[in-house]
Amino acid sequence: MFEDEFDFPPPVPGALEFVLETDTMVAVFAAERLQRIDALREEFVADAGTSRYRFGDVVLRGLRLELAAAMRISEGEAGQLIALAEALVHRYPAALTALGGARITQKHATILADGLDELEPDLRDDLFPRALALAEVEPVGAFRRELRRMIDEARVVTLAERHEAALVQRRVLVESVGDGMAWTHHFGPEVEAHAVLGRVTAIAKTILAQPGETRTLDQIRADVFSDLLIEGTVTDHPAATRGIRATVVVTVPALALLLDDDAAVAAAGSDPARVEGIGPIPIGRARELCGGDASWMRVLTHPETGIVLSVGRDQYPPPAPLRRLVKWRADRCMGPGCGMPASRCEVDHTIAWEHGGTTALQNLAPLCRGHHKVKHHGGWKVQQVPDSGGAVQWTSPLGRQYVVTPERRVPVFRPTDDPPPF
Ligand SMILES: [Zn+2]
Repeated sequence: MFEDEFDFPPPVPGALEFVLETDTMVAVFAAERLQRIDALREEFVADAGTSRYRFGDVVLRGLRLELAAAMRISEGEAGQLIALAEALVHRYPAALTALGGARITQKHATILADGLDELEPDLRDDLFPRALALAEVEPVGAFRRELRRMIDEARVVTLAERHEAALVQRRVLVESVGDGMAWTHHFGPEVEAHAVLGRVTAIAKTILAQPGETRTLDQIRADVFSDLLIEGTVTDHPAATRGIRATVVVTVPALALLLDDDAAVAAAGSDPARVEGIGPIPIGRARELCGGDASWMRVLTHPETGIVLSVGRDQYPPPAPLRRLVKWRADRCMGPGCGMPASRCEVDHTIAWEHGGTTALQNLAPLCRGHHKVKHHGGWKVQQVPDSGGAVQWTSPLGRQYVVTPERRVPVFRPTDDPPPF
């Protein structure tokens, strides 16, 4: 009867609507279930009475086990449901209403609560209406991505503020743990904390390599830490450990350095400054690190390409991408009238390293062997023309001046020359 393709019966009218109808019921029931789970939690907490403050964790574990056993789900899942229920009932009631009205799914509600819970209450309240509006229109994947972007942006803007507030709390304390042992806690800026661990580790590794050393790296690190703080020196002064400094790699998008604060950085769409292995730091802090003389590895990157423009005084040989950029910009030797291809040139520090020159785009130029010699021994003065994007001025022993412009221009980005504010 259906041999002719045109004779297929049309789809049952409303079949999709039937599916969606059950979906609505699932959402309504999900909201109801979460409400009841939170009521159960409150009952548990109330029953724990006065002891709940001390044994809050035990109460929650008991509830988790009870719920998991009864629902025949894992304790982990039960814990997530309890947390979600509490978040929706107490922090995001409008989202619970949206779930009960089947305008969002439980998955959306979970992503929303998990995401916003990362934020401080003020920020959370700011973002919530926008987040909920998104949840009501976007599919789960797009919602998750968009919410993540919103949260990251909001956090960067307040990064400096939050850092300042947290900085006030810095302190050192000792926690006894028995057996004659104790932890020393140092609460301070993360960059410094990594520098401390970095230096202690570097020294400890040097000691570990000494013949006859039997301690583990962890043990040596702990000993070095106390020796340095108590005596100011490492026990026995192994010569190899002297002068070891920690290197903390700070990556600063050059564009961010030109802007006023983290809000401007976020508005310009620039990446925040980052410390390798840690994450974003306030731009004000990054600026300090860039200008200061501390032992940070300062890495300036181009806003669009991410190419390293400067490593300051931390490294004499330019990193390979910086070397390539210097040669690409000039295309040939930067000696007056010279046509030697840059690929056959040496990359010269215009202000010599020993005179304080930096390994930075604005202090590097390719020179052929001949012009390199003339520059160093021929009585010529060579300097880069400030803010020119790579032009070099040669002054002859007779006082005549020649400006050699590079084949291509690279926008100039550099940290402020103001002294660091500390
Ligand atoms: Zn040359």
